[in-house]
Amino acid sequence: MTQRSARRENINLTEIYGSNVFNDQVMRQTLPKEIYKSLRQTIEEGLPLDPQVAEVVASVMKDWAIAKGATHFTHWFQPLTGVTAEKHDSFISPTPDGRVILEFSGKELIKGEPDASSFPSGGLRATFEARGYTAWDYTSPAFVKDGTLYIPTAFAAYTGEALDKKTPLLRSMDAINRQALRVLRALGNKTVKRVTTTVGPEQEYFLIDKKLFDERQDLILTGRTLFGAKSPKGQELEDHYFGQINDRVASFMADVDTELWKLGVAAKTEHNEVAPGQHELAPIFSTTNIATDHNQLTMETMRKVALRHGLVCLLHEKPFAGINGSGKHNNWSMGTNEGQNLLDPGKDPHQNSQFLLFLSAVIQAVDDYAEILRMSAASPGNDHRLGANEAPPAIISIFLGEQLTDILAQIEAGGATKSKAGGTMNLGATALPSWAKDTNDRNRTSPFAFTGNKFEFRMVGSMQPIAQANFTLNTIVAESLCKFADRLEKAADVQKEINAIIFEVVKKHKRVIFNGNNYSGEWVAEAKKRGLPNIGNMVDAIAAITAEKNIAVMGKHGVLSPVEMESRAEIQYEIYIKTINIEAQTMVEMAKRQILPAVLSYKAELANSIAAITAVEGNTEVETTLFAQVSQLVRSFSTNLTKLEEAIQTASPMHGDTKAQAVAYRDLVFKAMGDLRKDADALETMVDAEYWPMPTYAKLLFNL
Ligand code: ADP
Ligand code: MG
Repeated sequence: MTQRSARRENINLTEIYGSNVFNDQVMRQTLPKEIYKSLRQTIEEGLPLDPQVAEVVASVMKDWAIAKGATHFTHWFQPLTGVTAEKHDSFISPTPDGRVILEFSGKELIKGEPDASSFPSGGLRATFEARGYTAWDYTSPAFVKDGTLYIPTAFAAYTGEALDKKTPLLRSMDAINRQALRVLRALGNKTVKRVTTTVGPEQEYFLIDKKLFDERQDLILTGRTLFGAKSPKGQELEDHYFGQINDRVASFMADVDTELWKLGVAAKTEHNEVAPGQHELAPIFSTTNIATDHNQLTMETMRKVALRHGLVCLLHEKPFAGINGSGKHNNWSMGTNEGQNLLDPGKDPHQNSQFLLFLSAVIQAVDDYAEILRMSAASPGNDHRLGANEAPPAIISIFLGEQLTDILAQIEAGGATKSKAGGTMNLGATALPSWAKDTNDRNRTSPFAFTGNKFEFRMVGSMQPIAQANFTLNTIVAESLCKFADRLEKAADVQKEINAIIFEVVKKHKRVIFNGNNYSGEWVAEAKKRGLPNIGNMVDAIAAITAEKNIAVMGKHGVLSPVEMESRAEIQYEIYIKTINIEAQTMVEMAKRQILPAVLSYKAELANSIAAITAVEGNTEVETTLFAQVSQLVRSFSTNLTKLEEAIQTASPMHGDTKAQAVAYRDLVFKAMGDLRKDADALETMVDAEYWPMPTYAKLLFNL
């Protein structure tokens, strides 16, 4: 029996699922009927919250949380650091006679006031103007974790500007709802009340042994290995992907599942990924806002549970050079409150003009706003992936598959008359079932792939919160829908106008559609011919945030104001600068205090043995050759170390121009880091293993 089945024997899945969540069922059971109805309507129709309702909800929520063992509550928010933040307050309130009562007011539920001065604001407020507010996001359920009631909140400055990732996400949910409803109404739909986007993010990660992790300064401080020669065995045998899950990992996964299920996170699929030590977890999709919160919880839970198992969960996009890094596949769609998936082609997509219209909206958005979409997946860690042969390239394109591409071609040629069928799958043995084939194959190389009834945005980095990718997607698609609605609302013949819109989108935006191999060199050349942007690194990507058309679209839909956009660009430059600076400093320290001393000791031993052998034998050819090779590498290493230190000195003084500074970090520091690493990795393959001061890739990747 595997550890997983052993662990799960004691679990009643339906009982624990959502057991720590103040979800709809709990609300229905615990709230007065009128209050429940009012809150439900508020959530479903996206209405403003009634303060009296908040008062009752707070009191009921507190009693529920206390029964679950909570003593504290916290507003849980997502500042622009990329991780979540929380500040715990206990429920106690002293009485005059020296006792305490437990209190939690509607005001405490809906509003918090953390000191905002130490969170990134990109110049939005000076540090002496420290006021910040958190506001309850009632669309994402509260939950109890580790004795604390967690209340999902948005975070904003005193002046009202968003300082977090949730606020623009919620604004973008409103924007796409508004525009999608306009389109649906123009199409004659009178019943749909709300359109929301849905997301299922697949999360990749690595697991390594905690003891080995502790021996690597780079992993501890930066989350990735800054040195490390390739292991003799990597992923070339392709034996890890979907391979059997070993007991230690299985027991970790079982624990993660249980923790997540309690929090109402629908963890569903687990498997080994391509690289050794790499795995994936996918949940069942939910509303984008909730999926975003749940993805944060998933990452936190994986990190925490790993430690219980003597493991460390690495979420960095590129913990190891030479093997695959980790990403997050952001599966995204739009659906109505009546349960219709607006990106479901149905049986005969060529006749489904509503589907084709929404599909066109996505195609137009992705082509028109490729740069800001690319930016939404930019991070220092993701710079190691995008464009390498493991992740989609930095060029944004859409995979549509054969059937839809064919329909669009028919439309362009004058009108679509048929949908290509998938045919039947027959494996040629009577013992095996046959089935109707999917109408499209998969394309694992495309950054933005249609996968049946949703798009999979495959560029997002494993460590990144998914909020930015999704508020960007929501907003740019809202813009397409807005333009469509402007036309449809005025059209005398709606069907004719729909056809015209789709026809024009195909003509104008088919350049963004590509069904071939995105990893190939030919595609890079072809994309250039088509005029598609190819933005190779984060520093260049950031420019999109302050580009006029992107400021305009975010402003028009009320998602981010020009000031908020400017501040976000600043923060991105700062993140890049700080990340590379920490990595570079860590490299210098490891080089000086670990690698150099180790190599010099080894050199001394070699020198001693050459002297000793000379005395008895005379022929020291092997030893002297090795000595010369090591000496030469050490010299180069030492020179490159000096160069790296100089690069840091040149780049690090702050001069107010963060963009120029980020460029310096990329062109001087990051480059010097690569040179230094090359020497160290070569030395690692020559120096006596006894001397090497840190665990090797082979050890890190193959010892679980
Ligand atoms: P596939 O095999 O096509 O990748 P899966 O069912 O494995 O599809 O889904 C991958 C991810 O996409 C899962 O997290 C799943 O919940 C999510 N997903 C499925 N349908 C939708 C949808 N309509 N909107 C958003 N995500 C979805
Ligand atoms: Mg996947």
